[in-house]
Amino acid sequence: MLMAALATEFGPAPDSARVEIVRAPGRVNLLGDHTDYNEGFVLPAAIELDTWIAFRRREDGLVRVASRHSREPGSFWIDDLGPDREGGNGSRVAATDPGATERRPGHWSDYVAGTAWSLRESALPIRGFDGIVDSTIPIGSGLSSSAALEIASALALLSGGHILAARSLAALAQRAERDYVGVNCGIMDQFASAAGREDRALLLDCRSLDTRYVSLPYGVRVVVCDTGEKRELRSSVYNTRRAECARAVALLVERMPGLCSLRDLEAVWLARHRALLPGNVARRAEHVVSENARVLATASALEAGDLDELGRLFAESHASLRDLYEVSSPALDTMVEVARAIPGVVAARMTGAGFGGCTVNLVLADAVPALKAVVSREYDRRTGLKGRVYPVAIVDGAGPVPTT
Ligand code: ADP
Ligand code: MG
Repeated sequence: MLMAALATEFGPAPDSARVEIVRAPGRVNLLGDHTDYNEGFVLPAAIELDTWIAFRRREDGLVRVASRHSREPGSFWIDDLGPDREGGNGSRVAATDPGATERRPGHWSDYVAGTAWSLRESALPIRGFDGIVDSTIPIGSGLSSSAALEIASALALLSGGHILAARSLAALAQRAERDYVGVNCGIMDQFASAAGREDRALLLDCRSLDTRYVSLPYGVRVVVCDTGEKRELRSSVYNTRRAECARAVALLVERMPGLCSLRDLEAVWLARHRALLPGNVARRAEHVVSENARVLATASALEAGDLDELGRLFAESHASLRDLYEVSSPALDTMVEVARAIPGVVAARMTGAGFGGCTVNLVLADAVPALKAVVSREYDRRTGLKGRVYPVAIVDGAGPVPTT
């Protein structure tokens, strides 16, 4: 089947060609938003929604990819890739290949090309491939379809060669998204997709990259609710927030020499020096400082099975993102509100960068049908949007899929 699909897209293969498959999951962050780029803590989990690449290795350095989510395939020569910030990206057309399609900035295959560029820059042995990409992750909803595409691409490019540790894979994929695609992201998404573990959340220290796997309480399901809201403001506000955090550090360092990032700031010191900061900058710092503490408290509450504490921590995180960091939206607030009213919904909050995207909920298994019903009745009526509910199993990170 896959052999036939590949042949239709890219032409017949040599007799020796074998189809390989790699997969990389999306992720949901249980708690800790806008902390990763402040060198803080996050608590993501890899989810069963994932991205696959079925591919045939090539002996040369050409990569050709088609996605079931795009009508436009992409292709590039690995040796031709180079970032060129002014042009958005520096990938060039694979001019010597007759089947190569014209590429332009902003093409989805930049995530694949960026990953090839990043691996090549680290002198890793990679080879071209012809591949078909498919995904069950809703694209652009904050569940990290981009990181999943990068990690899956890395595995396809490295196939038959190097096996990289998950943290190296994550760092290389983050570099691709940041320096090639041009999205100034932290490392959480790629790390969760590469290093997730079945039924566990991943407590990640974004400074040291130390990890601890945390069990979820028995009988509690993770449920993601997609608001269906467009995210137009997201990237500009994201960059503004990063700049505000940097400003807080720059202003506070005068009184606190040695302060490198908001990760180092303690609540008492923020309270003492708050007058040095403009109001909006102080609120951003207060969110980051309190959110870091909540991540650690949430990991402990998960391990202790303390459902009341989890409910309280999720509620505080949502309020902090809404009122102090100012990245929530009426749709996210409504989604959280309708969920919280359901008996059996233990905890609910917005997750990810904000301005649309998803909420994350901890829900007793019995209450999942009620949550689905209320979202399609209450949420859709109140917002005029189409909400979607995904109960998600927590799965292992990326890897090859056995083919028989
Ligand atoms: P998120 O990572 O939250 O889903 P992003 O905006 O970071 O959203 O990444 C979405 C982009 O990633 C898409 O616009 C597309 O360019 C690319 N992408 C991700 N998955 C796929 C896929 N399966 N097929 C094609 N493009 C994809
Ligand atoms: Mg993304």
